[in-house]
Amino acid sequence: MRLKSIELAGFKSFAKRTPLEFASAITSVVGPNGSGKSNIAESFRFCLGEQSMKSMRGRRGEDMIWSGSAAVPRAGRASVKLTFDNSDRALSLDFDEVSIERVVHRDGGNDYLLNGSPVRLRDISELLAQANIGASGHHIISQGEADRILTSSPRERREMIEDALGLTAFLYKREESEKKLEKTAENMREVEGLRRELAPHLKFLQHQVRKIEEAQKLRDELSGKYLEYLKRESVYLRITESLVRDEAEVPEREHNELNERITRLREELGKKRDDVGTSELMRLEAEGRSVGSRRDSISRELGRIEGELAAEKRIAHVVESVVSAAEARAFATRVERELEESSQLNEQETKNRLLALIVLTKEFLRRIAPREIPVENPAEKLLPRKEALERELAELETKERETSEAIATLRQKIDTDKDANREAERELFSAMARRSELETRLSQLRARREQIERERQQFKTEVGEAAALVGRAIADYESFAVVAETGEALSDADLADEDRTRQEERRRKLERMKIRLEEAGAGNSTEILKEHQETVERDAFLTHELADLTASAESLHALIADLTQTLSVRFDEGIAKISTEFDAFFKLMFGSGSASLELVKADEEAGTQAGVDLTVSLPHKRIKGLHMLSGGERALTSIALIFAMSQVNPPPFLILDETDAALDEANSRRYGDMIANLAQKSQLIVITHNRETMSRAGILYGITMGSDGVSKVLSVKFEEALGVAK
Ligand code: ATP
Repeated sequence: MRLKSIELAGFKSFAKRTPLEFASAITSVVGPNGSGKSNIAESFRFCLGEQSMKSMRGRRGEDMIWSGSAAVPRAGRASVKLTFDNSDRALSLDFDEVSIERVVHRDGGNDYLLNGSPVRLRDISELLAQANIGASGHHIISQGEADRILTSSPRERREMIEDALGLTAFLYKREESEKKLEKTAENMREVEGLRRELAPHLKFLQHQVRKIEEAQKLRDELSGKYLEYLKRESVYLRITESLVRDEAEVPEREHNELNERITRLREELGKKRDDVGTSELMRLEAEGRSVGSRRDSISRELGRIEGELAAEKRIAHVVESVVSAAEARAFATRVERELEESSQLNEQETKNRLLALIVLTKEFLRRIAPREIPVENPAEKLLPRKEALERELAELETKERETSEAIATLRQKIDTDKDANREAERELFSAMARRSELETRLSQLRARREQIERERQQFKTEVGEAAALVGRAIADYESFAVVAETGEALSDADLADEDRTRQEERRRKLERMKIRLEEAGAGNSTEILKEHQETVERDAFLTHELADLTASAESLHALIADLTQTLSVRFDEGIAKISTEFDAFFKLMFGSGSASLELVKADEEAGTQAGVDLTVSLPHKRIKGLHMLSGGERALTSIALIFAMSQVNPPPFLILDETDAALDEANSRRYGDMIANLAQKSQLIVITHNRETMSRAGILYGITMGSDGVSKVLSVKFEEALGVAK
């Protein structure tokens, strides 16, 4: 890698675009005081990302920008661009030429460009660190700054040496890893916090899930018990129902038959009761009585007629009163009716009726009492009458006999009928008794059926309840096989054979289990299970995350340890080498004596930091402390150290701003030899007033400043250079 050029535009006194080429190993910049030479050295610092304005003799970014003069107006921005030849790919960019540019604006804002593309400062710093161009600027020794390495603290010195040894890239990497580790630790704390936060909720959900699982177990158990219970109940109901139905069949048939028989018997008996026999008998008897009474009346009249015929000599006779047969029949009929009717009356009424009859009879007797009537020629009138009566009497006697015979026959028939009725009645009574017996039985069976119907209703309710509790599958109880202890499935008959109390016991057990299930009250299980699942997943995710973070923290720890180890080894080695070189350069500068670098550990009591200390021993002098050195001696010591550092790990370029100012002629020559030696490994840009130094340069730039305050660059020959420098 080689520095090709620098281009300043609006930077400090370089108001105009000013390019400088570095085609030689040593470039010397010369010019009068105040012409802007140091501004060039600072433009390098600026471009490489220097953040300290103080180290560039400014207070703010704005101080870097051309501030204007009477002739040339001020600039809006300052820019410096460095161009490197990167054919050797010392910078890890796949370009033969790499340009780095920094721009500062009046508002203080900065832009960094890598090959014209905007990048971050860090990108540039990291890129340059690879090429041993560190930010500490150990390779840019500003005016009067050579001394800095002597006056700085051991820690600052250590940083400069680390930078010079090219350890900055490792330091960057370590710093970056430490930041990452810190971030990882923070993330771990955060994840641990989240897990801690999640833990009680997860615990709660796990508890809920356990409850749900227990409830589910209980439900499964309940389901099994329910299946057996329902199966048994169903079989019991079916078989009992059919048994009761069968049991009722015979009595029902018999009951129906009895009903028919009873109806029939009743009809039969009713018909007989309404029979004409009795009324016919009554009619015949009445007729018999009527015939008898007519016969009596005719007999009496015949007797009277015969009496009259016997006393026909008398003039006047007491004669019997005569009533017509019709009158007598009417009377007799009435008496007979009254008497008949009285048989159906109560005692008092009968008495009244009899009294009325006595009155009636007395009246009739009064009417038929004998009266005295005159009789004239009785025989002529009486005889035909007598004959007529005798004929009628004979007819009546025949009639009476016939009636009497008819009555006897009818009585006989009625008696026979009465016997038959008694038999039918007995049959009816027995049928009714049997029917009542059957009805009792049937009513028992009906009650039994109603009981079964109630049980069936209850069974339906139970099936519904079971389905609600343990799920629809329970409806399939019919296909459930109840298994005996022996392991064989029980038949329906076996099931129905069981004592009913066992089933009652099962029902009570189910009730108790239902209560337990209700008490288990697992809440909305789907929601809880879902939430539990999600929480478990989240926890697993966090655990996984934590493991990842732990792993990455471990690898970062390892990387940091590794880097620390590398840094420590390289630093120790580097320090040793620099110390040796330092001693050699020191001896070269002072002719003899010795110098060395020492690592110092932090000493809290003494208030010293860990870092690098210097020890020098001047020839023929007993001076040990740096503060006791003269100005020239200090310059020589610092140059020896700077050159030692550059020798061990040569930077691509080295800028020395009047480092040689305090040297006498003899030392100037040694200095000249040394830079010629250094230039073999690093490009040198030396700002100098020293003739000896100028003589070593391949290219000489003269800087001038006119009345417009603008610095200008011109290439000069060695012979002209001394003139320009004045
Ligand atoms: P010496 O040989 O005395 O060390 P030099 O050649 O190193 O001098 P510099 O210190 O580089 O000179 O230049 C200083 C000059 O630059 C001063 O004249 C100063 O006014 C000018 N200068 C510095 N900053 C600006 C700026 N922002 N705008 C204009 N001019 C500036």
